[in-house]
Amino acid sequence: MEYDIVIGLEVHIELSTEKKLFCGCKNEFTHEPNKNVCPVCLGLPGSLPVINQQAIEYFIKLSKALDCQISLSSKFDRKHYFYPDMPKNYQISQYDLPLATKGGLFLPNLNKYVYLRRIHLEEDTGKSIHIGGDNLREAKYTLLNYNRAGVPLVEIVTEPVIYSVDEAAEFLELLRLTALYLNVSDVKMEEGSLRCDANISLKPKNSDKLGTKVEIKNINSFRFLIRALNYEIERQSNILKSGKGVIQETRGWDEKTQTTYSMRTKEEAHDYRYFPEPDLLPLNLNQDYIDSIKIPKTPSHYYQEYLAFNLNNDEIMFLLENPKINDLFNVIISSNLEPRSIVKFLKTDFAYLYNNNQINWERIQINNIIEYIKLAESKNIDILNSKRYLISILHEEIDILEFFKDKGLFIQEDTSLIEKVVDEIISKNSQAVDDYLQGKDKALGFLVGQAMKELKGKAKPNTVSELMINKLRAFIKS
Ligand SMILES: [Zn+2]
Repeated sequence: MEYDIVIGLEVHIELSTEKKLFCGCKNEFTHEPNKNVCPVCLGLPGSLPVINQQAIEYFIKLSKALDCQISLSSKFDRKHYFYPDMPKNYQISQYDLPLATKGGLFLPNLNKYVYLRRIHLEEDTGKSIHIGGDNLREAKYTLLNYNRAGVPLVEIVTEPVIYSVDEAAEFLELLRLTALYLNVSDVKMEEGSLRCDANISLKPKNSDKLGTKVEIKNINSFRFLIRALNYEIERQSNILKSGKGVIQETRGWDEKTQTTYSMRTKEEAHDYRYFPEPDLLPLNLNQDYIDSIKIPKTPSHYYQEYLAFNLNNDEIMFLLENPKINDLFNVIISSNLEPRSIVKFLKTDFAYLYNNNQINWERIQINNIIEYIKLAESKNIDILNSKRYLISILHEEIDILEFFKDKGLFIQEDTSLIEKVVDEIISKNSQAVDDYLQGKDKALGFLVGQAMKELKGKAKPNTVSELMINKLRAFIKS
């Protein structure tokens, strides 16, 4: 690659407050159009906005988690544009005095800090549904749903300091988890409560001068973010290689063709004719109030803690992506079990039941889980058969040792039977034996597996494996 990639992200997160930002309408995702609307969010004459304090509180939580500087005095501005999803013909947003600036998010996996430029609060727009065409101009008619109009939205703008598609994806994922752990948004890309635009430009390697940037809009999934950025890198580098210049513009991502397409050349900021919102007082916060808002441990902090446990990225992300399982992990970890054994159990047997909605969190028995993991690690139990009782083990108050004894799940080794079975397996599988003798270690696993199947829980894998190796070595000597 002869070019450096420079990416800046603009992320919108819908806050999951009870009410909208400036009126008393319910803030909820619903399939019934225009259910939650009133004169304020429809922009009817004479109606006046009033700021929602819960939205300020959620905003402060997010700003704190992102190490931002929260402004004691800021204000709202009108951003004008004419599109039917905006009933007032302007959006109440923040322009020159955003509620928070600076800060950033540390990506522990990549050991990278992504700096933020600003984060501000604004209202969301409604939704247009174009019938008979892809946009307003081509549509036969357009339906409007204002349920979303006026929903509190946080806009987070990074500095252009993201240098690869991996960094962009990791930033967005960690930001999503951060909002989720703070409980300020449900951050569902498919429902639009998390949205992302990307600015991307290419410049010759190690050049100080930034290239012409292109903004990509309509990215509504992580997969599309990765695909759209990769497509755009390819497209722009081909233009630069041919000696032409990239045009500064806004492009959309088309899922069907898997390409970006030109939407419009970029509007300049003054096109929006910003001016201070006359219907709202400036927003003055007091430091005591800001200090009184506390936040829980963030995913970035958890991540760094888990690195110290020697967990790898897959294991850590598994925990972080399942907040309830992450909480459970943090309870179990106070026992003296190896962190990795706990994750192994949660990621396999437990996750299987969890994904099938078979976990009843109210009844979960922490001590049983700890004992079960210990027993599984000791290899003294018939692990395959014990899994059949896992639902009971997880939910019932039982003496787990008694339970295992009762069900005959402790392995009672029968040495003479083991020897007989191992001999049988060796004589029946001459091909695998030959393979092993020629250095194919995989063949051993196959032979041990066959013997274990035959022994049905009457032997430990280690015993069988050792005996098998000794018998096979005798072949070499003879
Ligand atoms: Zn309303």
